[in-house]
Amino acid sequence: AIMYRIFFVGLNWKMNGDKKSLGDLITTLNKANLHEETDVVCGVPAVYLDFVRSNLRARIGVAAQNCYKVAKGAFTGEISPAMIKDCDVEWVILGHSERRHVFGESDELIGQKVAHAQESDLGGIACIGEKLEEREAGTTEEVVYAQTQAIADNVKDWRNVVLAYEPVWAIGTGKTASPEQAQEMHEKLREWIRANVSEAVGDHIRIIYGGSVTGANCKELASEHDVDGFLVGGASLKPEFVDIINALV
Ligand code: PGA
Repeated sequence: AIMYRIFFVGLNWKMNGDKKSLGDLITTLNKANLHEETDVVCGVPAVYLDFVRSNLRARIGVAAQNCYKVAKGAFTGEISPAMIKDCDVEWVILGHSERRHVFGESDELIGQKVAHAQESDLGGIACIGEKLEEREAGTTEEVVYAQTQAIADNVKDWRNVVLAYEPVWAIGTGKTASPEQAQEMHEKLREWIRANVSEAVGDHIRIIYGGSVTGANCKELASEHDVDGFLVGGASLKPEFVDIINALV
């Protein structure tokens, strides 16, 4: 982590919780002593966006976990960036591994969603990451760069994008990438962005790591130069998330 890239911790609650348990998480977050120079954003199920935004203190951001690629229309079951913004929510997670691999979202669709979120001035937490068989086949870089290209092609304002590197084999498995593995990929991604977008964007973009981050392993990961924060799933529902937010303290 490096100071001019403000540390960013996303709590991805996925499809978990109810008003009672999310209310308890909100209470914890509202009371917690959080490192001042860390951005904190909660990824909330769509039906609870308004509830969470209304009850969480303003210092903490809220993100939808997905959105569609247009503002409105006959798309039963979808939500748009305009609706997210209407709930005073400023962020959306796009291209999460579960959207890609459980719901079959393609690089192309994710790119279109990124483009529309950008047009709507919604911050994007854009996710990429290779599967185990891709890592074993030695195609990690190829896969991750192709995913990043599809995102980069659709970004207009990089200040509104955080890139989340989440190796699929590390998500929800307890098999965290080692600090060295995370640093290696983050450094390569930053170099790719410097070469293919611009040096300034590469230097300034926050690349956060996701995949079995816990209170116990976060400090070591956070000490790596190119790890600018985390996207946290399982541990985001447990009190240890406060330690993860405060990994730099
Ligand atoms: P995990 O999930 O922390 O449970 O591995 C991370 C994610 O899916 O963003």
